[in-house]
Amino acid sequence: MVKKVTENVYVIEHEEAANNVIIVGRKGVVLVDTSLFPEKAKSIAKFVRDFTMKNVTLVFNTHYHPDHTFGNVVFDVPILAHELTRQKMQQFDTGYFETLGIEYFEPRLPDVLFEDEFEYEDGIKVLFIHGPGHTPDSSYVYIPSESVLITGDTVINNIHPEIVTDSNLSVWLKTLDKLPQAKHVIPGHGDIGNSESVKAMYDYIEKIRKLMIGELAPYEIESDPNFTNRQHAEMLEWSIRNLTT
Ligand SMILES: [Zn+2]
Repeated sequence: MVKKVTENVYVIEHEEAANNVIIVGRKGVVLVDTSLFPEKAKSIAKFVRDFTMKNVTLVFNTHYHPDHTFGNVVFDVPILAHELTRQKMQQFDTGYFETLGIEYFEPRLPDVLFEDEFEYEDGIKVLFIHGPGHTPDSSYVYIPSESVLITGDTVINNIHPEIVTDSNLSVWLKTLDKLPQAKHVIPGHGDIGNSESVKAMYDYIEKIRKLMIGELAPYEIESDPNFTNRQHAEMLEWSIRNLTT
């Protein structure tokens, strides 16, 4: 389903899978994240052509996780990402695909890399900014003229986030704290939100951090709506396991 966020920004939602966002510029379209499935990425490319009469001219990966990058292969345009995203994706081997239950193909790596920030202009100015925490390479997109923030998995709405072995909770909190104020916050997964979604995510990660260092008892999150209202409780257990090992 496609949801209009502003005149130039649309979200292609796929229930709980990663959100794909399109930013319609003067000459072309920026696509944020490409989904786990190349076939789905192909249908997104076609949709963009039909819907905007323009082509995807730039792809951006918010981070290396496969549900945000595997669709890269169908695009013959520059792929922008943080330099660590490319490094992480270089480590995807046949064994990694096996664990995902997907037949191996050679991933398309990002080829336009940045370290702190990258500015892109095509009628509207789009900023790509490094914001680690969920993963070391995580980055977000800020479009000042539309007051839109596209967070990747730094913010997840209505669903428990994926906290992985290379997540760093303190760094994640710092990133959440310095995110630009925006009217529309498009998370990596879940519904379109606003500044409240950023606050809820901060609170969530902060409580997990406190739980890990013994400053919070498990029952305190068991009764917290910011935890109980999120889907996929098994993700929470999985995250806590990831953090302790
Ligand atoms: Zn992720």
